[in-house]
Amino acid sequence: MPTKKPVVKKVSTLQKKEFKKESAKDESGLPLSVVIRRRIEAQKARFHANDNIASFIKPGELEGLVDEVAEKMQAVLESLVIDTENDHNTQNTCRRVAKMYVQEVFNGRYVDQPTLTKFPNVSRLNELMIIGPITVRSACSHHLCPIMGRIWIGVLPSKESALIGLSKYSRLTEWVMCRPQIQEEAVVELADMLEKKIKPIGVAVVMDADHFCMQWRGVKDRDSKMINSVMRGAFLKDSNLRREFLALIDRK
Ligand SMILES: [Zn+2]
Repeated sequence: MPTKKPVVKKVSTLQKKEFKKESAKDESGLPLSVVIRRRIEAQKARFHANDNIASFIKPGELEGLVDEVAEKMQAVLESLVIDTENDHNTQNTCRRVAKMYVQEVFNGRYVDQPTLTKFPNVSRLNELMIIGPITVRSACSHHLCPIMGRIWIGVLPSKESALIGLSKYSRLTEWVMCRPQIQEEAVVELADMLEKKIKPIGVAVVMDADHFCMQWRGVKDRDSKMINSVMRGAFLKDSNLRREFLALIDRK
C-alpha cells in the first residue's frame, strides 16, 4: 500500500497546475480578458466600468476571470512590497480580492439581469407606490472605494403598466449597483431601466449614500453624504406628486 500514496499526490498537483493554466488563457494563449474584450469590440459595444458585459461571457469563463484577476492582484501586492509568502494574512489575499470583485461587489457587470416576473395591473392601480429603503452597496469607479447607501423608488403605474414583484426592485437595484460607477449615473440607469420595464406614468429614484472616497481617503469628512434624485414623467410635471413622494420617504 505505501506505493499508492505518492502517486495520488503527484496526479493532483499536476491537475491543479493544468487547471490554473487553462482557465486563465484560451487555446491560443491569450488572457481570457483579452478574448472577452475582442468579442465586445467586434460588436462595437461599450465596456465602461458601469456597463454589463454578461452577453459576451460564456458559461464557465467567470472562474477563469477570477484566476486572471488573482494573478494580477498578486502582482499589485508584490509592487506594494508586501511579503505575501511569509505574512500569513496576505497569503491568499489576491484570490480573495479577485473573488470579491468578480463574484460579489462588481458582479452586476458579469451576470445577466435578474429575471423579472411581470404581472398585469389587474386592479388597475394608478396610485403612488413607494419602495424603500433598499440597501445599496456600490463602489466609485475613480478609486474603487465603497459607496454605501439607500435608495427609494417611487412608481406611478398606468393602467397598462406591467408591475413587478416588490422583491424585484431590490434585485434590480443590486444588479445595477454592483458595478464601479458614479452615483449620478447609477440613479439615472436605474430610472431608465424601471421606465423601460414598467412603463409607468412616472418614476422617481432617490439615493443617499456615504462615499468612502470622502471618508477613508481624500478630505476624510466622515459626515458627508451625497443625495441624488431622478424624477421622470408625472414626478417631473406634477409638483404635488413629487412633494408627496419626498414627504413619504423617511430619509432620517
Ligand atoms: Zn472615488
